[in-house]
Amino acid sequence: MVSNKNTPVIELRNLTKRYGLGASEHYALNGVDLKIKKGEFVAIMGPSGCGKTTLLNILGLLDRSNDGEYLLDGKNVERLSSHRHAIIRSKHIGIIFQNFNLVPRLNVIENVALPLTYKGVSHTKRLEKASEILKSFHLSEREYYMPWQLSGGQTQRVAIARALVNEPSLILADEPTGNLDSKASHIIMRELSDLHKRGNTIIMVTHNPDLTSYASRVITMLDGHIATDTAMRKPKKDSSIKRPLHTAKEEK
Ligand code: ADP
Ligand code: MG
Repeated sequence: MVSNKNTPVIELRNLTKRYGLGASEHYALNGVDLKIKKGEFVAIMGPSGCGKTTLLNILGLLDRSNDGEYLLDGKNVERLSSHRHAIIRSKHIGIIFQNFNLVPRLNVIENVALPLTYKGVSHTKRLEKASEILKSFHLSEREYYMPWQLSGGQTQRVAIARALVNEPSLILADEPTGNLDSKASHIIMRELSDLHKRGNTIIMVTHNPDLTSYASRVITMLDGHIATDTAMRKPKKDSSIKRPLHTAKEEK
């Protein structure tokens, strides 16, 4: 994405998402204002049902809001066609879903190569790139396995490899380690941390407070809005102290 370095990667203005009609109408997002700069690693926390997945799906252009604005790299993307959304996703956004979402009838390498189809890369090149990234995830020997033959940790690593194969600058992850043991979680967090250090923007939903230590900013949501927004000071080489830089709203 080409943009002025002061332009936020993401800017949401009074974003609203409603579900249901009449008596069953409710707000999954109830006026979200948010700016995220390039290179931030944002962790989003909050109780089940507070709107985290809804927010991530809208950020990933998989869903649309009812009201408000979404500026991606300074451009309003809300009104673009679904086809344009798919192109933007394939070029710039990597999405790691909570429930893996591998295509069951495709083997591992084909699943990982899938996001490259939109980019007009040749079939051979696609498989080469997929193979390369699978190697970096220590999954080379699983290339021709079917999704059902993998363990939970392997499945999620394949899903992450797939999200990263098109070298997205914006990575969205919905509880990427939610179904994994601590060793597998650590491998995945190291990978996300690495991507962050290389200048990519990461937005990760998590239930695990320990994982917020990887983030540069922690947002908590409640009932469809942002309740707290805290910048984290990353430990420098000569210091191991981690403390908030500022708190947007008082936390108890
Ligand atoms: P979280 O990810 O924080 O657990 P969600 O974003 O999944 O929360 O859901 C936020 C709210 O929106 C919840 O009340 C949920 O029931 C509702 N919701 C989410 N998706 C739908 C849908 N497709 N239809 C109706 N209600 C939905
Ligand atoms: Mg969710």
